[in-house]
Amino acid sequence: MSDYKLLIGGRLVAGDTTIPVVNPATEAVIADCPRGSAAQMDEAVAAAKAAFPGWAALPIADRRAEEFARLLTREQGKPLSESTAELAYTEAFLRSLAMLDLPVRVVEDGEQRRVELHRRPLGVVAAIIPWNFPLLIVAFKLPLALLAGNSMVIKPAPTTPLTTLRFGELCAETLPPGVVNIVTDANDLGARLSSHPDVRKVTFTGSTETGRRVMSSAAATIKRITLELGGNDAAIVLDDADPKAVAPKLFAGAFMNAGQVCLAIKRLYVHERLYDAVCAELAALAEAAVVGDGLLPDVRIGPLQNRAQYDKVLGFLEEAGRDGRIIAGGAVTGRPGWFVRPTIVRDIADGARLVDEEQFGPILPVIKVTDIDDAVRRANASPYGLGASVWSSNADRAYGVACRLEAGTVWINTHLDFGPTIPFGGAKQSGLGVEFAEEGLAEFTQLTIINRAINRAN
Ligand code: NAD
Repeated sequence: MSDYKLLIGGRLVAGDTTIPVVNPATEAVIADCPRGSAAQMDEAVAAAKAAFPGWAALPIADRRAEEFARLLTREQGKPLSESTAELAYTEAFLRSLAMLDLPVRVVEDGEQRRVELHRRPLGVVAAIIPWNFPLLIVAFKLPLALLAGNSMVIKPAPTTPLTTLRFGELCAETLPPGVVNIVTDANDLGARLSSHPDVRKVTFTGSTETGRRVMSSAAATIKRITLELGGNDAAIVLDDADPKAVAPKLFAGAFMNAGQVCLAIKRLYVHERLYDAVCAELAALAEAAVVGDGLLPDVRIGPLQNRAQYDKVLGFLEEAGRDGRIIAGGAVTGRPGWFVRPTIVRDIADGARLVDEEQFGPILPVIKVTDIDDAVRRANASPYGLGASVWSSNADRAYGVACRLEAGTVWINTHLDFGPTIPFGGAKQSGLGVEFAEEGLAEFTQLTIINRAINRAN
């Protein structure tokens, strides 16, 4: 039961103590996971520092997909089909990002001088991971950090460490010691890592609140930071959309991973002409969705990942019943597991907490709008700006609206579509910097200019 190990300096080692990892569908303990100590975190940073000079980029092969998928469902809760998809995405990101290149760019080659832009590695990179996509988010960061020539210390979220530790076993087989290190914690080592003087860059995915702490802890040594933070994505349905056609896509965009997706649709603005029809379609989909243990066939919605998130979502649910009208869904009671049925809330408005804040769970507020300018204004009236989408039968009209939305990604007639070749980042308090593609790779490097004077006389 406790064959999970930390990865430090190429060695798979036990922690100081252990922490129980709980299956959110059963509340049963599925593993005793090693818990890293502060000394082990320092050792990991030292190992990464020592490995850094000798490191050259290596693509990583991803194997054992089946075992990974089941373990992912057991620790994270998402249905097996979504775990399998996370594995496929993980592999696609590892392979695609590892193929990028960092050529020297010549910006001037004239009579007087030759100027080159070199992208050099930074040193030790700390990657701090949340619990909603424990493997995929590692795959967002690891290939770019390594390809650029950095070494790493990865810290998974305390409630979802197991798949990352299994991944560490593959790293131990494949990579030189110290290039990748993985240290777990009980939510008590993040600050130590993000403020460590030998860490040159922190790539962080998690809540905006913790992102602020990471940003301030990076200040002392002017660390580079990339922050992928919270979101409150608005989707706007224009009056010419087809309710039957868009509802399943809106539903998928809101309820994947039981709504625990940074880029999920978290507020839905629908024109009054379609409002009743869209609400009814969504309610029917919500009622039909099978809720349960993600290992069972046909389950569409798994549990909330951890008790704290479950309690938070129950708070939103209770208020939603007062601030609006629940037309489908609600809490699941009388059985173990942190389940909430997909819930549709209508007749709710901006100002309600469910609309203004990030719920990060399976409850969707549907807000009636009478005018598109008003919808755009409301969508933009948020401290967040991760994603947004516009839904319409008229591509030109939708494009006009999309260009006015303040977000890092704006979709038309889709949501949650992303990939390794498309840069991804948040506007406003949803983040800082970008991940993926060449733009993301650049963030793991130090830009160095080599400027050579040309003396024609010699
Ligand atoms: P969280 O901020 O609570 O934790 C994220 C990680 O930070 C965990 O590993 C945690 O242990 C660590 N941590 C805690 N305190 C720290 C500190 N002081 N310094 C450094 N690290 C510390 O987030 P969460 O609850 O795990 O994830 C949910 C949030 O993440 C949501 O807001 C969601 O929108 C956001 N998220 C964003 C993206 C994105 O790409 N923008 C992706 C997934 C999740």
